[in-house]
Amino acid sequence: MMDTPLIMTQIIERAEKYFPKKEVVSRTDGGIHTFTYAEIAERTRRLTSNLEKFGIQTGDRIGTLAWNHHRHLEAYFAIPCQGAVLHTINMRLSPQHVSYIVNSAEDRLLLIDPDVIPLLEAIKDELTTVEGYIIMTDKDELPETTLSPIYHYEKLLAEGNPKQPFIQTLDENAPAGICYTSATTGNPKGVVYSHRGILLHAIALGLADSTAISERDVALPVVPMFHVNAWGMPFASVWFGTKMVLPGPYFTPKILAELIETEKVTIAAGVPTIWLGLLKELEEGSHDTSSIRAVLCGGSAAPKSMIKTFEQKYGIPFLHAYGMTETSPLVFVSKPKSYQEDLPEEELYELKAKQGLVSPMIEIKVIGQDGEVKPDGKEMGELLIRGPWIANEYFKDDRSGDTFKDGWLYTGDVVTIDEEGFVKIVDRTKDLIKSGGEWISSVDIENALMAHEGIFEAAVIAVPHEKWQERPIACVVLKEAYKGQVSQEDILGFLKPQFAKWWLPDEVVFLDEIPKTGVGKFLKRALRNQLQDKYINK
Ligand code: ADP
Repeated sequence: MMDTPLIMTQIIERAEKYFPKKEVVSRTDGGIHTFTYAEIAERTRRLTSNLEKFGIQTGDRIGTLAWNHHRHLEAYFAIPCQGAVLHTINMRLSPQHVSYIVNSAEDRLLLIDPDVIPLLEAIKDELTTVEGYIIMTDKDELPETTLSPIYHYEKLLAEGNPKQPFIQTLDENAPAGICYTSATTGNPKGVVYSHRGILLHAIALGLADSTAISERDVALPVVPMFHVNAWGMPFASVWFGTKMVLPGPYFTPKILAELIETEKVTIAAGVPTIWLGLLKELEEGSHDTSSIRAVLCGGSAAPKSMIKTFEQKYGIPFLHAYGMTETSPLVFVSKPKSYQEDLPEEELYELKAKQGLVSPMIEIKVIGQDGEVKPDGKEMGELLIRGPWIANEYFKDDRSGDTFKDGWLYTGDVVTIDEEGFVKIVDRTKDLIKSGGEWISSVDIENALMAHEGIFEAAVIAVPHEKWQERPIACVVLKEAYKGQVSQEDILGFLKPQFAKWWLPDEVVFLDEIPKTGVGKFLKRALRNQLQDKYINK
């Protein structure tokens, strides 16, 4: 067989050649814009020619701090198709972390949205490698800023070459992107994505038993483009000629519902908090969501109750998936097998709430105390993963050896695997609660809590305990209409029939909000800090 390289140039050139009429709908602070792939490709070429003018060399890193919109999409291709490396930066990280990762990646240029200017102004003197800031704005004039030098994205494009050739001779294993994991401890860790890894991963997104993204879809990546490349959805969509809807800055559940309705979105991707928010909007307003064939949900566990509400109340099929920054991210998708469709309702939803079956091309192992665990859905062990879109080290980081060993990625996720091969995340190793020598899964209790009609969201954390080492406490946010109406006793009474007595939380704490990471996951570390004085130091 021919050994032709898998490089990103093929993706954008395919859209340009075969899907020039297909559209990208992009929401910015200036409104909603529609571009064809012919226009996006031309603008991408213009941006690429500018990178050459800046003297960007193969392998140089260029950072983006931007929402999901068409300019960010153009950067997604212009940078790797010139041989450079796209570094998507999570703009919700602390200034210290942003400064750390820009310096660690040695970004030469930053492409930024106007609203991140204050964040960068605060750290600009620490950024040792940045030679310029390109501001992506709809406005004709650049905003006042102390950042320097600054460039106007659209003006650069206007001066750029619309026929600029993309690089054709890259090694498929060359880096195309880099993304830092939002650290739960210590500094963020960089994960490098190769051209080959990105293309193989995009193919996996297109498989019928995976997310099945195709030309016929209208894809709405709500998951930020700075979070694991919006789960690879932009790469797959452009390659397959899929119409894309990019929701832009400061979107609300209402804006999402409107975009779904007007653009007839068929597949939308985001973390559970996004979908909880959308459910609230659907309950309050009237929106036509009948175009959706899949709500793709990952990043943290999708509660069974939420999956059920989407499917049964709104007729919206739900697709639960699992991945990590280190895994590009797709590893598991939870689609019942053909002969499992007839399972009794509760069992079927138990299955859909699992993280799912491993993707083709990826291998897994689950290691317990005595080697590989039995596939009985009960025995727990750590999940190990390997495959062509799984990282094999962190970027210039001496912590790599803790996570990448003997050719496997050690995920730090504790899982079970059932006889059908479906994997269920029990917890992250650091979030498991160890009470009297036995493990309690915070995820299981959270899932049960979120099925309570009065509960909007819930997180369960461990607090130290003299006798039992650790005990669970439940942190609960009530829905507006239930505030003051639901007591600790009600909630514990609700949980009691579902769990062994020693699994029940020692206390229920009512909060206005659960602290979240920049990408909308529960930030249990912050929750522990918040409750520290009450429990941990007592
Ligand atoms: P971080 O959360 O540290 O920013 P990632 O975004 O890479 O890093 O998240 C990866 C982790 O998210 C996984 O190791 C796992 O713990 C969790 N995760 C991802 N998808 C799911 C899911 N569907 N269910 C439960 N946990 C998930």
